[in-house]
Parts: sequence; C-alpha cells; structure tokens
Amino acid sequence: MTLKQKPSDQYPSLSLNKGRDQSILRKHPWIFSGAIRSTSGKLHEGEIAEVFDYEGNYLASGFVENGSIAAKIFTFERTVINIDFWVEKLSAAWVLRQKTGLTESEQTNAWRLVFAEGDGLPGLILDYYNGLVVFLAQSLGMYKARFDIVRALKICLKEKLTAVYDKSVFTKKQEGTQDQHFLTETNAENPVMIKENGYSFLVDFMYGQKTGFFLDQRDNRYLVGKYSKGKKVLNLFSYTGGFSVYALKNDASAVYSVDSSSTAIELAAKNVALNCPEIADRHYGVIADVKDYLQQMESDFDLIILDPPAFAKHRESRHKAILGYKYLNSAAIKRIRKGGILFTFSCSQLVTADLFESMILSAGIESGRNVRVIHRLSQPADHPFSIFHPEGNYLKGLVLYVE
Ligand code: SAH
Repeated sequence: MTLKQKPSDQYPSLSLNKGRDQSILRKHPWIFSGAIRSTSGKLHEGEIAEVFDYEGNYLASGFVENGSIAAKIFTFERTVINIDFWVEKLSAAWVLRQKTGLTESEQTNAWRLVFAEGDGLPGLILDYYNGLVVFLAQSLGMYKARFDIVRALKICLKEKLTAVYDKSVFTKKQEGTQDQHFLTETNAENPVMIKENGYSFLVDFMYGQKTGFFLDQRDNRYLVGKYSKGKKVLNLFSYTGGFSVYALKNDASAVYSVDSSSTAIELAAKNVALNCPEIADRHYGVIADVKDYLQQMESDFDLIILDPPAFAKHRESRHKAILGYKYLNSAAIKRIRKGGILFTFSCSQLVTADLFESMILSAGIESGRNVRVIHRLSQPADHPFSIFHPEGNYLKGLVLYVE
C-alpha cells in the first residue's frame, strides 16, 4: 500500500537538518528535536508524522512525542497507517515468537507479544497471558491507536484471544479517559493463570506491577532451577515468587522470598501452594525492605537472587543508581556462603553491560571475597532488540561464584 501522493495530503511532515538523517538511515527509531529543520505546521503529540531528509526524500513515519525525542518511528516504508498496517505488524511479532518456540503449549502459554522498539512499535507493550492480552501504551500515539490495535489482535489471534486489558497509565491524563479497563467484551477474571516452563503462576494483571508478571526472567528462572537442588535460596525483590517456585520445584531445601510489597508476597505464597503444596513449608515469605534485610540476614545462603527494580529512570539518576546496585551486590557477596552462587541483575536501560560489570567489580573488591563469573545473562527471545537500537538491550545479569 505505497502512497503516491505528496506527504501533506495524508500526514503532517517534518524535515531533518542536513546530515541529521544518519541515524534514521541506520534504522534507529528516535528523532531528536535538535535534528529537525522544519515541520508542516505545529505538530501535536500523538499524531502520525512523515519524516523527510534535507532534500525532501521520504525516510520514515512515526508518532510525534513531547520532549527531547520529537518522534518515534514505526515504519521506514511509506504506507497508510490503517488496520492492515497493524495486522501486518502484529502478525510479524507473532511469527517471531512462534519461531523461537513460544507457541501455545502445555509448558508455556505466556510471552511478550510486542516489545516496543524491538518489534518496530516504540511505545507499545503487549503481554500475552494464556489468551488475555495486557495492553500497555507508553506513548500517546499508541494509546490513541488502541482500538485499531485491538481489532488487529482479534484478526491475528482469532479464537485464542479472550480479552484485552488496558494497563496504560500516564497517557490517560492527557486524553481525559477513564481508568484502566477491558478494551473487549469479556468475562475474564483477575488473576489469570499462566504456565511457564511447566509451572503455574497467578498473574494479577489488574493490580500487579507493570503488566502483572515479569516475563523477561523466564530463561533465567529456568537456570536458577538447575542450581537449586538441596540449596538454601534467598530470592531478593521476589515479587510474586517467580524464581522461588523454580527453586522449590527443583528441590531447594528452603526458599526465602523477600519483597516490600505485601500483596506480592501473598501472591508468592499462592504460587508456591499451586505448584508444590507438599513442600510449601520450605517457603518463607518476608515483607521487608531488602536493604534492611541484608543488614540482619543469616550468612548461610547457598544461592541468592538479586533482581532489583530499575533504579535509574533518567540519565541524571544513573550515578546514584549505580551506588545503589553496588551497595546491594557488595552486601550479598559479603554474606553468601563460601562456594555460593549469586544471580544478580539490572533492568535499567541506562545501565549498560559495561557499567553493570564495572559496578560488580567494585562491589567484589569492597567485599574482599574471590568472585568469578560463570554465566552472562540477558533477556529472552520474546524481548528482542534491534541491533540499530541497542538501548533495547535492557536486562543484564551475571551469575557469580563466590569463595
Ligand atoms: N524477580 C521478580 C521481579 C522483581 S520486580 C520476578 O521474577 O518476578 C521488583 C520488585 O522489587 C517488586 O516486587 C517491588 O515490590 C520490589 N521492591 C522495590 N523496592 C524494594 C525494596 N527497597 N525492598 C524490597 N522490595 C522492593
């Protein structure tokens, strides 16, 4: 559906300064405001705009944003943005998941169906939970497109789709619409039950954090399972007990889940009861601030998981975030049993792998222990990132062997 008309016939346009088309030509999806030479009138946040180079050649189309990133690109081919466009995009995302083995099965029926820039749709997250899709718009443009996206989901997923739930937050205020709600007719109930690697989890998609479950740790949870037999395990920032269930199912001798959220710890207990009722007494849910817990904890844990929330949300807070990560890691390394294994993560987009590893180096030096790396971890295949947009590679993890 290539357009023949001039851009102004269909969408507002913006043209870039000379030489500022390099990153777009390399398929990086962000346009910074400083790169813009002119626009066809005032552009409004959330509307579609076409992007042209200095000489008027078409480069890309995207949604207009407010702020230093002036537009986020969703196509480098000139097309009409209609229902066919959305169907094509969502089908491509679905195909990638299927090719990576994430098809509906007895083992796994939940995955990230659309991962923003990683699927060429900046500002859009769609998580698939056993037929129920959680829609999380992180830009006004994607939020405004929600009804087309729901229609496209119905076309792509057919009878597999049971409901779409809107979990977008900040965009609501700008649009003046009501709270989070279903976007489809449904009798779906909260929480929804999913399967991951054969284990069952209750996902509180209405009141839980983000879309309800941290699908990005699926592969890393599996690896924790492999190290858990006979081990005393400490799961710090446990949320609803994802890592804890894997540890228990793989015969850990005891598992402590620590989180500051009482609702998360309650759901963790339910998830343990669901998967391993016969050994639920090996699980201890602790509602506490991890920083306090690390001060008074026992030093006989064989396996510690440290998966804090993103401390660095803005570039200005990155230094403080690194200090926070360093404090936690150094405390965990100091207190783990000799020969113990630490799974440590950062999900801050702004903390690069290099920064993360140098932070671990200084935490290791501070601890005085001998520390070796036995695995480098990342995000799973349903969280792809474009090589042209390395910012999408947000989850970093190391497995450390501590003596
Ligand atoms: N590992 C989890 C995801 C962790 S999300 C999983 O696999 O599902 C981060 C969690 O950290 C959230 O549950 C949040 O409640 C918790 N949290 C944030 N700050 C905290 C603090 N200072 N102490 C304890 N928990 C905290």
